[in-house]
Amino acid sequence: MQILIVEDEVEIADLLQLYLEKEGFTCRVCRDGINALMVFQEMQPDLVILDLMLPGLDGLEVCARIRQKPGLKDPYILMLTAKGEELDRIIGLSTGADDYMVKPFSPKELVARARALLRRSLRQGGQGNSYQTASFTLDLDQRSVSRHLNAGTPEVLDLTTLEFELLSTFLSYPGRVWNRSQLIDKLWGSDFFGDDRVVDTHIARLRKKIEPDPSSPTFVKTVIGIGYKFEDV
Ligand code: CA
Repeated sequence: MQILIVEDEVEIADLLQLYLEKEGFTCRVCRDGINALMVFQEMQPDLVILDLMLPGLDGLEVCARIRQKPGLKDPYILMLTAKGEELDRIIGLSTGADDYMVKPFSPKELVARARALLRRSLRQGGQGNSYQTASFTLDLDQRSVSRHLNAGTPEVLDLTTLEFELLSTFLSYPGRVWNRSQLIDKLWGSDFFGDDRVVDTHIARLRKKIEPDPSSPTFVKTVIGIGYKFEDV
């Protein structure tokens, strides 16, 4: 897996490179947006770690231009931001980034996210068409889900198509925060027209089926002011 790191703060860039290369990833580092686009074209990385505040073109512009490049491999994009307010701004803009981390972050967590992205891309390549977490197994071919709580017998869950898609979206990337419009894009496509609170209704139904206590969810968590995330430790 090839990773392009776009970060003008030398210490952060060096630290990321060190940690990621230790994990066996091949990395290149760019310090500004224009250079990043040139290296991107030549390298065609699987993952771009993209700082928001950059000299020249900022991270949002770089992200938009990468997404517009026709014919090139569509990479995963993980944005780095300095403050929580910026995170709200980026998520609100639906820039096309796949994930976000707020500085200061732990390099170990970033490596874990990079690995999660790698696993996801392997799965999409058809190797093992299922998602497995501590409490759930979701089979994409058979479209079945089972829950295994406390080492008990697995129970097969009866989900509607929409609930299945919702859970499969969450399981494809545990820990990722999704806002409502991103979930709508996944479930109904980008031509959806209507109230994005429709997502909340389906979340409530899904919780009724998968949560031991739907009034106090342990898997599908609300992220106040943003949306939802799935956790299963
Ligand atoms: Ca910066």
